[in-house]
Amino acid sequence: MISSPVYNFAAGPGIMPREVLLQAQQELLDWRQSGMSVMEMPFTGEEFQTIMRQARQDLRELLGVPADYRILFLQGGASAQFSLLPMNLLPPGATADYVDTGHWSRKAIEEGSRYARINVAASGADHNYRHVPAQARWQLDPGAGYCHITSNETADGLAYHWLPDTGNVPLVADMTSDFLSRPIAIERFGVIYAGAQKNIGPAGLTIVIIRDDLIQPARPETPSAFSYRVQAESEGRFNTPLTYAVYIAGLVFRWLKRQGGLGAIAERNRRKSDRLYDAIDGSDVYVCPQRAADRSRMNACFHLADASLTTEFLRQARQQGLLNLQGHPAVGGLRASLYNAMPDAGVEALIAFMQAFAARHT
Ligand SMILES: *Cc1c(COP(=O)(O)O)cnc(C)c1O
Repeated sequence: MISSPVYNFAAGPGIMPREVLLQAQQELLDWRQSGMSVMEMPFTGEEFQTIMRQARQDLRELLGVPADYRILFLQGGASAQFSLLPMNLLPPGATADYVDTGHWSRKAIEEGSRYARINVAASGADHNYRHVPAQARWQLDPGAGYCHITSNETADGLAYHWLPDTGNVPLVADMTSDFLSRPIAIERFGVIYAGAQKNIGPAGLTIVIIRDDLIQPARPETPSAFSYRVQAESEGRFNTPLTYAVYIAGLVFRWLKRQGGLGAIAERNRRKSDRLYDAIDGSDVYVCPQRAADRSRMNACFHLADASLTTEFLRQARQQGLLNLQGHPAVGGLRASLYNAMPDAGVEALIAFMQAFAARHT
């Protein structure tokens, strides 16, 4: 038995706004008297095209995406983008810069190195990923086709709270786990991509925002469904898009607008994460090793000073309705993901539990 209310701290797929799930439930059988569920709609039909156009428009407004950028709704998740980026952006033999800030940037480097010569411009590995390397220490290659960063390291609990300057080299960011958590200056990026299942919607949907001049023919062996150019030119009609996932993401965009947009959401995210980090730092029982200035506001990664209590912590938390607080398997320890949909009450419940647990076990 799990007591209610339940708060889901999973890193991904993660918590969704309750209002969105309720609206989807209401509209499940019959979308706005169309006589069809969104799942049943032909994707080229007027109804679904309206849904997709609206979702794209709302996302453009939320993020302030300039007119010379395209928004693509693709499939395959962020991991597929690790390959698709070099296949779409680089000729064979070209070089790309990557900054290694943890688990997900290492994955991007590993996969990308099958298609490009990769220059690791900076790495946090020698500090065990406790901070984001300062730009002054980056060794950028002026001939690189792009420079790739991971704006939020989901497994390591690190985030950029500043924007790198890469000159004429396009900046590319994997924003999977902090997309729509704060305003961003899109015009500083060449490409932004994000898998949906962390902070947007159902898994599989992958959002790519790309500046027009970077949309080039992909390498010939690239599947057409994964060619940015084919997808941009066909406006998502080349193959069946993830129709239901696009619909749910669209409901989330609307929900974000009702919350006051990304400025308001960022303020709430700051408050929630500050509350949790303050509770961790104020206790001898919990440890967060990441440098304060580089901590993620989405994924707080920490551990118990006495690691042998971890299993018991997770068991008791679960009983209290605090779910999925285990760290990423590659990192261990504890992790509380505080995505947009996590209410203040969830954070307060977690802190109250942590304090009670600390009192019982010291
Ligand atoms: C989860 C995650 C990924 C991988 O996403 P998939 O959809 O499983 O491919 C990549 N990058 C970051 C930052 C992530 O958090």
